[in-house]
Amino acid sequence: MENMLLRSLTLAALSLATALAASYHFGAIWDGAKVWTDACITVERDRIQSVGTCSGPATDLQRYNAIPGLIDAHTHLTYILDNTVSQSARSAAVVFLSQDNARKTLETGVTTVRNLGAADYADIAMRDLIDKGLMIGPRMFVSGYGLTISRGRTPTPGTADGVADVLRIVRQQIAAGADCVKMYGSTGSGRDVTGFQTFTYEEMKAAVDAAHALGKRIAIHSYGPDGARDAVRAGTDSLEHAADMDDATIAEMVRRKTFYVPTIDHNRYYADNYKKLNYPPGAVDDLNGFIRRNLETARRAFQAGVKFAMGSDAVYTMFGENTRELGWFVKAGMTPEQALQTATTNGAELLGMEKSLGAIRPGYFADVVAVEGDPLANVDVTIQKVRWVMKSGAVVVDKTK
Ligand SMILES: [Zn+2]
Repeated sequence: MENMLLRSLTLAALSLATALAASYHFGAIWDGAKVWTDACITVERDRIQSVGTCSGPATDLQRYNAIPGLIDAHTHLTYILDNTVSQSARSAAVVFLSQDNARKTLETGVTTVRNLGAADYADIAMRDLIDKGLMIGPRMFVSGYGLTISRGRTPTPGTADGVADVLRIVRQQIAAGADCVKMYGSTGSGRDVTGFQTFTYEEMKAAVDAAHALGKRIAIHSYGPDGARDAVRAGTDSLEHAADMDDATIAEMVRRKTFYVPTIDHNRYYADNYKKLNYPPGAVDDLNGFIRRNLETARRAFQAGVKFAMGSDAVYTMFGENTRELGWFVKAGMTPEQALQTATTNGAELLGMEKSLGAIRPGYFADVVAVEGDPLANVDVTIQKVRWVMKSGAVVVDKTK
């Protein structure tokens, strides 16, 4: 009850605050490319009006440094580990229960997500509710059902075998309101770290072409190198997970400017939580083995010049840890600034939103994160020290007091 009252008050305050231009004074601002010291961001409604020298009254956030709102390019916000609702009613309750995942995501400074797979179009419902201000959460770009081959379990509305099925299911997701397409091009998920290719090259090519023909982008999942090779050759916009890629595939990603979203940290989450997830202890070795190969592949891809986007692959109780992936990127050889770019300018480019998201620039959405410490000196500042978050001009997280 108190929660609901608070929420409606927050929403009311939101609409008031956005009616007027307001300035925010930071110790420094990293705008996605360069640093402004002792500077102000002025916001009008949901957009950034100006960045630069302060003039006139401003909210004092000088103890903090500003970075653009972060983009998590791979989430599953509607995956919940909650048994408060009976199994038969799960799908009716899922959007409500997912609000917690949305809130925890905002607290990490993530103001935009690409959500790659959900049942019952719960992702489309969440996106629309958030866009209309009826739910608090990150801006969502969603895929609807991910495409899978038949695999000895009940078919889902995303199950496709053969090119004709693939074309129909891709078009159905877009018709339902999906912003992008997700295809599972190999086995591997949760405790299962196998990477057997599932869809053929021809099926992947059909999915890529069908998505592109309707102006949408596609993400193809592959744990192993075979699915990765064919996904890249088929023209996927981003490749998810992929360990053990060969040099030719990595070179092809550089040539085609394919984004790599390695999601190294999600297996760390599974290993840390194997008991809660009911995995056998042996699963931890498998997961750690995959992490090592995934990190090594990321290191080789980064050295070769592949473009990266940060994706957590967060599910269940991993929300709130969305940006830990950045720590792996630094281990793979990035500077903290290069890691930040994967979650800002690169993420925006992957979404096709590079002219309105991922940077603190006039005309862009007013998505700003205040961190305590220097995010360019230490990546842990971004991971652990988020104190204040603005999304579309509204303060959605405030831990400054
Ligand atoms: Zn995923």
